[in-house]
Amino acid sequence: MTKQILAALILVGAFAGLASAQDVRVTPVRGNIYMITGDGGNTTVSIGGDGALMVDTGAGQKSERLVAAVQQLLKNVTAAPAPAKPCLGCAGNASPYFNTITASPDPAKPIRYIINTSARPEHVGGNEKVALAGRAITGGDIVQEILAGAAYERAPVFAHENVLIAMSDSSNGKPAPSAALPGEVYNRPLYKLSQFINGEGIQIFHPESAISDGDSIVFFRYSDVISTGDIFTTTNYPMFDAKKGGSIQGVIDALHQILDLSVAENRSQGGTMIIPGHGRLCDSADVAYYRDMLTIIRDRVQDLMKKGRTLEQVKAAKATMDYDGRYATKEWTGDMFVEAVYNSLKK
Ligand SMILES: [Zn+2]
Repeated sequence: MTKQILAALILVGAFAGLASAQDVRVTPVRGNIYMITGDGGNTTVSIGGDGALMVDTGAGQKSERLVAAVQQLLKNVTAAPAPAKPCLGCAGNASPYFNTITASPDPAKPIRYIINTSARPEHVGGNEKVALAGRAITGGDIVQEILAGAAYERAPVFAHENVLIAMSDSSNGKPAPSAALPGEVYNRPLYKLSQFINGEGIQIFHPESAISDGDSIVFFRYSDVISTGDIFTTTNYPMFDAKKGGSIQGVIDALHQILDLSVAENRSQGGTMIIPGHGRLCDSADVAYYRDMLTIIRDRVQDLMKKGRTLEQVKAAKATMDYDGRYATKEWTGDMFVEAVYNSLKK
């Protein structure tokens, strides 16, 4: 049996075990990128020699299982047998492979980074537990590491600065605990992680206004995978929040931005893989369909507004009827979405 087949069987076995024993589910996406579903919003994970980088941490209801799934993936990376080392000074029948057989496998690398795509609770709910299960990378200076103290004992959380502001806000109940808050923030339209993580560059794009004023789109350049957060989902109309800086036009613009970064496979599924905030794994055609749907609904509402219709009349016109079967939910109905679109366009 070749090494590749053996590794594939181990992976399949691990995924089957995870899917049956626990209700968080791991989907291999491409290369070392995985999608984990089952606890609120989707989580994207990069796994490799540097450890794990996670985009979003779910609702926090199943954080132990989420962490266990990531740690299992990390173990699979280090489970490969160590290369044979020459056995200098071995006498008699000692084999150069002896060291390989007797050596302990390398310990699995920890969770190193967390990126939040927004401040929505089903995406940041697991921040505290996941961060505390991880460990920051620090420099070679041991004094700095000691000084860093508690901060070193967990994985840092990255996000747009408006996510930190939203999560620290105590006006709507309790602010998030400090370990859950982003410790490293950016405030530009484009931010890139300063070094390769697991063999690739990672860019973070910030649309000024989409679901809120703090969204991030995370682009894995070598794997050609984009994690979109709630700007794009397969399960519902976008839940943009005008009070928090979101807008319908901003969501459509952000979908264009995702499409600009994506390249389609020729006449088939594939190309750039898109991990939505909720729902199944997608490609750029799925994003284009969602963008078209939102553009059509925006135009319908806009047209009725130009004719002087009131909000009640616009709602009665059922501008979302042909899409409600797929995208309307109890929490975010077609009527609620139309009202949000109406108010956003009125602004
Ligand atoms: Zn969400």
